[in-house]
Amino acid sequence: MFDTCIAGSLPKPAWLAETQKLWPQWKASGAELAVAKADATLLWIKAQEDAGLDIVGDGEQSRQHFVHGFLEQVEGIDFEHKVTMGIRNNRYDAQVPQVVSALRLKGRVHAAEAQLARAHTKKKLKFTLPGPMTIVDTVADRFYGDKVKMAFAFAELLNQEALALQADGVDIVQFDEPAFNVYMQDAADWGVAALERAARGLTCTTAVHICYGYGIQANNDWKQTLGGEWRQYEQVFPALARSSIQQVSLECYHSHVPPDLMALLAGKDVMVGVIDVASDVIETPEDVADTIGRALQFVPRERLFPCTNCGLAPMSREVAVKKLQALAQGAALARKRLGLQG
Ligand code: ZN
Repeated sequence: MFDTCIAGSLPKPAWLAETQKLWPQWKASGAELAVAKADATLLWIKAQEDAGLDIVGDGEQSRQHFVHGFLEQVEGIDFEHKVTMGIRNNRYDAQVPQVVSALRLKGRVHAAEAQLARAHTKKKLKFTLPGPMTIVDTVADRFYGDKVKMAFAFAELLNQEALALQADGVDIVQFDEPAFNVYMQDAADWGVAALERAARGLTCTTAVHICYGYGIQANNDWKQTLGGEWRQYEQVFPALARSSIQQVSLECYHSHVPPDLMALLAGKDVMVGVIDVASDVIETPEDVADTIGRALQFVPRERLFPCTNCGLAPMSREVAVKKLQALAQGAALARKRLGLQG
């Protein structure tokens, strides 16, 4: 009951990469970098276990950014000539690589870190991949000329890697689709279908994470423009409820998302964001248990998984560790309040 997990990313240690940046530069290269990534992965598995989380992940220590980490293993993408592009409907500019020919995987993308994580934890292991629609929104297209076609091309590659991750022993494959909250009609029209293509044939648990972005300034500014009630989920959740995807991770605590929108996900597991990633203030166990209590009005207890609102990558390591502890302690308090075993 109330198994806890994180959305996906965790801060990179200062010896691995620049800290508190969304696209940090690595501190090493070649074989030395590979070892540093592995060390950081082990460090965070231990930290998640020590904090008391029930489901752990690799903290995305091996990828510079949650989208580009996947793209680096895709043939047909020119990383040498990045261009500046407004992403998430021009919310902010990013240096993005260009799609220049038909897409194909060069090989496995995340084998090293998935196998390493699996070998070093007995907890359930969740592994994250970017969703097709969010990838399409984070690259410049010079080849396909059609968003939907390109999204399904990426979905096929994601599916190959997802099936391989499942074979590595991953329990949950999660696709990250922050773009669903930006292009709601497209998400309902073809985004969810592309997601299902990416998840085709998986027998492990499948999940999607949809949020309002990392706690960076551009996102915080954007949130100020969204008004008193954030109803973006309302357009996408019905399509997700009809889909084969089993779990949905959403933003809740400190957001303006009306909690009753969670009721649109009947039949799905709901990873409820009970930890704010846009603030360094550490939630108390009471804060977390209160948020769980509010969500319980709309989500059955056996389907509620307390989670973070989004990734913790741009935060300080010290704050992130404390937030993991608050997450686990808050879930324990919520169980206690219901008279369940802590
Ligand atoms: Zn997120």
